[in-house]
Amino acid sequence: MTTSIAHYIGGAVAAGSSARVQEVFNPATGAVTGRVALANTADVAAAVAAAQAAFPAWSDTPPIRRARVIFKFLELVNQHKDELAHLITAEHGKVFTDAQGEVARGIDIIEFSCGVPQLLKGDFTDQVSTGMDNWTLRQPLGVVAGITPFNFPVMVPMWMFPVAIAAGNTFILKPSPTDPSASLFMAELLKQAGLPDGVFNVVQGDKEAVDALLVHPDVKAISFVGSTPIANYIYETGAHHGKRVQALGGAKNHMVVMPDADLDQAVDALIGAAYGSAGERCMAISVAVLVGDVAGKIMPRLVERTKALKVLNGTNLAAEMGPIVTAAAHQRITGYIEAGQKEGAQMLVDGRRFDAKQTGEGCEGGFWMGGTLFDHVTTDMKIYKEEIFGPVLSCVRVPDFAQAVQIINDHEFGNGVSCFTRDGNVAREFARRIQVGMVGINVPIPVPMAWHGFGGWKKSLFGDMHAYGEEGVRFYTKQKSIMQRWPESIAKGAEFVMPTAK
Ligand code: NAD
Repeated sequence: MTTSIAHYIGGAVAAGSSARVQEVFNPATGAVTGRVALANTADVAAAVAAAQAAFPAWSDTPPIRRARVIFKFLELVNQHKDELAHLITAEHGKVFTDAQGEVARGIDIIEFSCGVPQLLKGDFTDQVSTGMDNWTLRQPLGVVAGITPFNFPVMVPMWMFPVAIAAGNTFILKPSPTDPSASLFMAELLKQAGLPDGVFNVVQGDKEAVDALLVHPDVKAISFVGSTPIANYIYETGAHHGKRVQALGGAKNHMVVMPDADLDQAVDALIGAAYGSAGERCMAISVAVLVGDVAGKIMPRLVERTKALKVLNGTNLAAEMGPIVTAAAHQRITGYIEAGQKEGAQMLVDGRRFDAKQTGEGCEGGFWMGGTLFDHVTTDMKIYKEEIFGPVLSCVRVPDFAQAVQIINDHEFGNGVSCFTRDGNVAREFARRIQVGMVGINVPIPVPMAWHGFGGWKKSLFGDMHAYGEEGVRFYTKQKSIMQRWPESIAKGAEFVMPTAK
């Protein structure tokens, strides 16, 4: 039995006019479970028209009433959070408990968005000139769009739409066609929460849908999260068409282990952050930077723990790691492992040798591999330079702290980074000197909380504003400055010089 996964336009599921579809898989079994529609330009135009029609009334709705709808949505997501998590596991493959964590981190942003009346409060200066006041306010942009990746089908859209909608915009979500079902579930919950039709729309699709959004004159802003080449393309094309764009890209996150670190904690952190979600997280740790004599102490433990990973169907509550998302991703990751071997990295655990039979009943056809561990990786190797986005941990040995900082700062990505140490001064210097947007000190995956905003540096983010938090509110609103005076009704004649305070 396969399901048909359609669009959601103007408050209802819509089949669209395109004949193109893409198969959706359960990565644990390899079975086709659905077929998702791929929107054409006309489908995108219909979604933009619905969003455009809904904008005047929604943007005029007092912020506190918009916040009440978001609050109701928060209640509904809390009621249905496990259903959302099941949908994620079924199409993405990540283990159920991790999917629950993903939904919980999305809920954080919905909670943040409930405070929008406070967030939209402007600044006021009394008496900037005699009898004159000046104030600033922030107004919504109009129709805005979010284009999201496969690896967080609930959390990443929730980085965007709760903030955008609470701020008074109307929204079009273009989710990844790899795991599209959660988007429709979220649309239904928003409708149940009382969101007016057309305020939130979903167009399923691929490049054709994205390109239609990028050039549509009524789309005022684009939020994108995905790989770096596409992020770059979205940023350039969107900007060329006069849109505000924030485009979050790929990553190669390093974790530095200093000789004085708590090595038990460091090993736990590396194993969880490298292999959790099969390494398919933009904040996954894919490089361990082992300083001084640390490698000799922890390599045997990393080998043992990598071999002992519980790789099982994500529905099994004992699972630590699930399958790879698609057959194509499996092939890409396998290619990187081959490249690492050819380039001379020392392979200590080979995830390709993993026996899929142990993953669970009916899972023989799934996209399985175990964790892979490389030692003696050097900075000129492809497996060091490029994002693998799979369960592959590369260990680089460096003599000292300065060298650790240097290689990280030289890397083209700058999303997340972490340093394990017991020395407060090392930690402080690391946080200040490192050229990376999100930093963890004895924290392996430093995903910032809802009110702090999320974003990397260098090739991990194109644009100026981070996702969510106050930067998110700024991204989805434009500032207006108003100067006002109510003069006495005595004409003073025209003034021809630049107005100054009197
Ligand atoms: P992707 O770049 O392939 O796809 C992202 C989105 O872009 C999807 O909606 C997809 O349909 C669309 N898309 C794909 N190819 C396109 C094209 N040629 N033209 C226009 N649109 C296109 O990314 P993915 O494989 O879905 O997700 C994994 C990537 O996302 C990784 O690189 C990961 O690091 C990155 N990511 C980054 C962050 C972050 O916050 N920086 C968060 C999550 C994921």
